[in-house]
Amino acid sequence: RKGSVIITGASSGLGLATAKALAETGKWHVIMACRDFLKAERAAKSVGMSKENYTVMHLDLASLDSVRQFVNNFKQSGRPLDVLVCNAAVYQPTAREPSFTADGIELSVGINHLGHFLLSRLLLDDMKQSDYPSKRLIIVGSITGNTNTLAGNVPPKANLGDMRGLAGGLNGLNSSTMIDGGDFDGAKAYKDSKICNMLTMQEFHRRYHEETGITFASLYPGCIATTGLFREHIPLFRLLFPPFQKFITKGYVSEEESGKRLAQVVSDPSLTKSGVYWSWNKDSASFENQLSEEASDVSKARKVWEISEKLVGLA
Ligand code: NDP
Repeated sequence: RKGSVIITGASSGLGLATAKALAETGKWHVIMACRDFLKAERAAKSVGMSKENYTVMHLDLASLDSVRQFVNNFKQSGRPLDVLVCNAAVYQPTAREPSFTADGIELSVGINHLGHFLLSRLLLDDMKQSDYPSKRLIIVGSITGNTNTLAGNVPPKANLGDMRGLAGGLNGLNSSTMIDGGDFDGAKAYKDSKICNMLTMQEFHRRYHEETGITFASLYPGCIATTGLFREHIPLFRLLFPPFQKFITKGYVSEEESGKRLAQVVSDPSLTKSGVYWSWNKDSASFENQLSEEASDVSKARKVWEISEKLVGLA
């Protein structure tokens, strides 16, 4: 049978390019888990995906109710779940004030980390039950949350601190909107959320890899300077960022190439190792990358996991 893969945020950028790459092989049915149903349908058509290779299902990661509803709908569809890709994200580098999810949680950490945390926890059983030979749970990471790299050292740097803000629910009322308890900073909130993504992947690996055989992985797909992720940035930045990445840092990858990379992490028989953060070198060959000290801190990973469980109502 075809493999069955859920990709969140498959309506644009990396998610769409990955959906396309997988659908084209004819070996995958892609469930595009998207907040905007029409946009996702149009996106699938625009890249030439044929109807029998995908299904669009509604998922708004900015609402924990929506996450639960998506999981129920998926279970009712009767499809198996072989691979889950947590890809959707928002980035608000110029926001002066925080915005919030339906549950009153700061938006970037709410969507990028907590929505995905609940989603993957609720779908773990479905993955366990699948008879697919290589089951994988992939959480897209980033270099920007990784302070052992040049890009990860551009201020404001990611830093979870003692997580007092996260423990308080990031609500801006009786707690800070930032994980470390500091003042709101949209760019930092994104980087912090990506650290949480990478810590969560490793904690999944430690808790569930042996028991379930599921491969847990994260990746940095390269700098895809043209995606919608930068839509909220100032116009001058959006103009200069792609050529800067192409010619100066040489970290630029096209959406198509990044989609092929993530599709490899989904399906390549050689990328089955669990607990790994994949990156690609200049010749587009994959390698196991090192994570920064904070992004590989075992006790922080446990703490993020335990606090997140409480915030999403699992504990
Ligand atoms: P895009 O903005 O193009 O795609 C983000 C996707 O997430 C969109 O489909 C968007 O939906 C979706 N999304 C946003 N909020 C929600 C929500 N509340 N519920 C459901 N879906 C939502 O960005 P990219 O493709 O660049 O980003 C994809 C991933 O790649 C992210 O995890 C990002 O951190 C990572 N990444 C990107 C890099 C880059 O250089 N671009 C570098 C490293 C990592 P909609 O279409 O409706 O807006």
